[in-house]
Amino acid sequence: MSAQAFLPVDLHCHSVFSDGVLTPAELAERAHANGVRLWALTDHDEVSGLSQARAHAQDRGMTFVDGVEISVTWAGHTVHVVGLGINPAHPGLRASLHAMRVGRQARARAIGDRLADLGFAHAYDGALPFAANPELVSRTHFARFLVQQGHCADLGEAFRRYLGDGKPAFVPTRWASLTQAVEWIRQAGGKAIIAHPGRYDLDDTRSHALFSQFQDLGGVGIEVLTGSHTAQEYAIYAQVARRYGFQVSCGSDFHGPSEGRIDLGGLPPLPAGLVPVWQEWL
Ligand code: AMP
Ligand code: MN
Ligand code: MN
Ligand code: MN
Repeated sequence: MSAQAFLPVDLHCHSVFSDGVLTPAELAERAHANGVRLWALTDHDEVSGLSQARAHAQDRGMTFVDGVEISVTWAGHTVHVVGLGINPAHPGLRASLHAMRVGRQARARAIGDRLADLGFAHAYDGALPFAANPELVSRTHFARFLVQQGHCADLGEAFRRYLGDGKPAFVPTRWASLTQAVEWIRQAGGKAIIAHPGRYDLDDTRSHALFSQFQDLGGVGIEVLTGSHTAQEYAIYAQVARRYGFQVSCGSDFHGPSEGRIDLGGLPPLPAGLVPVWQEWL
């Protein structure tokens, strides 16, 4: 296999500090084994795993970038904004993310109540053991519980039937604003990136509004290669990046060995004519 088969860069994944199933040490080992040279951990609304990840990355000779994936509510849609190259010790960033995690606790109880109403007793208590970080109970943990109990065949089914946006156990949540998320990332010295743009159900007008507002706020890029995109979406968002002059980020969005389409370090090479966000880091 040629050295060009996989991109040696992975700037989006999750550990047990949010909704991933591996520890930062296990992720570092897997990233290294899969040929990653430049790696970022981007837990949801949480930076507590970064010091461990950095130490284990450096032990293996990988260059590490501190990251985070911030949940945003924009025009009634949930949008994820990745921050790369942030200072995880920045007090403003830490306080803002902490406030978001506090809000997740009541939400998780409400999700548990809705699942109980649907006949899944003790769903909240059942989901908790899947969440190593008690401040970060996510829908993914409920989905893993439903799969473990045999109610759903896989995570996709749990989201399609119960947990996905607008489904019976979905609890509408007001996350950070786009303005706040970009500001927090920039104040902490990082670059703001729109995560997996192909996952949002936005028409062309709305997409343009999101991209141009994000750019006006100081957002620098979008993800093009991600485990959440199809090959067709790689081409679509490469074109979007060229049109808006966005830098491009890439990451598997790896959550666990038996979940998702793409392994850590499993992305293909970058399409031509794009400006990688990681140029200054690798
Ligand atoms: P939350 O932040 O609690 O709303 O959970 C969002 C997380 O759910 C995302 O980060 C994904 O990891 C996961 N997720 C969302 N939709 C799906 C899906 N259709 N299949 C599997 N996981 C999903
Ligand atoms: Mn996730
Ligand atoms: Mn995401
Ligand atoms: Mn993610």
